[in-house]
Amino acid sequence: MLIVQKFGGTSVGDLDRIQNVANRVSETKKNGNDVVVVVSAMSGETNKLIAYAEHFSKTPEKAEIDMLLSSGERVTASLLAIALTAMGHDAISMTGRRAGIVTDNSHTKARIEVINPAAMNSALKEGKIIVVAGFQGISLDGNVTTLGRGGSDLSAVAIAGAIGADLCEIYTDVSGIYTTDPRIEPKARKLNSISYDEMLELSSLGAKVLHSRSVELAKKLNVNLVTRTSFSNEEGTLITKEENIMEKPLVSGIALDKNQARVSLMGVKDRPGIASDIFTKLANKNVNIDMIIQNKAHDDEANIDFTVPVTDLNDAKEIVDMFIKSGEVKDASFNEKICKVSIVGVGMKSHTGVAAKAFSTMAAENININMISTSEIKVSMVIDEKYAELAVRSLHNAYELDK
Ligand code: ADP
Ligand code: ASP
Ligand code: MG
Repeated sequence: MLIVQKFGGTSVGDLDRIQNVANRVSETKKNGNDVVVVVSAMSGETNKLIAYAEHFSKTPEKAEIDMLLSSGERVTASLLAIALTAMGHDAISMTGRRAGIVTDNSHTKARIEVINPAAMNSALKEGKIIVVAGFQGISLDGNVTTLGRGGSDLSAVAIAGAIGADLCEIYTDVSGIYTTDPRIEPKARKLNSISYDEMLELSSLGAKVLHSRSVELAKKLNVNLVTRTSFSNEEGTLITKEENIMEKPLVSGIALDKNQARVSLMGVKDRPGIASDIFTKLANKNVNIDMIIQNKAHDDEANIDFTVPVTDLNDAKEIVDMFIKSGEVKDASFNEKICKVSIVGVGMKSHTGVAAKAFSTMAAENININMISTSEIKVSMVIDEKYAELAVRSLHNAYELDK
């Protein structure tokens, strides 16, 4: 088989752990497989580098951030290649550029445009183990880019697609996908399998165990994904097509996103095209909008509230200020002390009362719901951040996910 194995930050967190990864890769190779390994930076390293940059500037150039952060993954890629070579394997490391990962120009959250796998394919043909530095690519005009926090998952899936791998294994510090973050609810249960669509919702809604775009791409390219731990041989969770899944619970999981902020625009000129103007400007700045609520305030004025990732808040503020200056928006407020709790499950498509149960669970805990949004397979609620963990645990209990 041709296997892509991705190891996250904790799995390569120190030299012993890198050796542990080398042992696992070595075993996979010895079992007759071809292996491409994708690695993250050592855990904490990316945050440390960001803090270094912020020592000099609160708004460092995004292109410089990419130069800086991409170094973390290069360290682990080369160390792992050295460890594998020392064990007698023929191993080489590759940067994103060498691996042929071409992205657009959006520094710090670049999108992969295409992968030219020629270098990887010829190294594979020579029987080499390839270790690719995750999270990075090269833009069409030759600049180093990064794919957004947690982006090594995306590198792994994209590479698996480009080289036609049979399997893409994501090794992390938990043994699979759980009904909710096991750090918040110790009673969370590991799932044997989950559909791409449910996983996509969970990760877009805050379950950082997988980068949401990696799941989206896995679905598109039909890559079989397995999430498992690098610390034992325990079986993981298969992420696959809905029709391959036997058990179809009403609710599969609960996600929590604390990195959301709420933007409230007051006294917005109520005229055709105003929403289009505001949200187009936000989109052009790559601000990710999630929930939107519009209310009528007075005759010719509306209030618009929406949520954005905290990391996009500064960009959003800039745009909002433009509209305040032009007089089309009277005032705005920003609240970072919110969070979004979501329940996800394909079973919702065919059952009623799922959302109602979520609301009554919040009511029973005296938690006020500020915003609600739903889709076919999810219900999301924005609440005060201080209730985040309580909300997750009560919902987990209400839908009997520990059973
Ligand atoms: P890595 O560094 O290996 O990429 P991450 O920290 O990005 O690992 O993701 C793993 C973490 O995701 C786990 O430690 C866990 O706390 C968190 N997590 C959140 N939701 C879930 C879930 N539903 N199932 C499993 N882990 C989850
Ligand atoms: N090192 C990067 C991060 O911490 C990418 C990754 O680990 O996937 O976000
Ligand atoms: Mg991750």
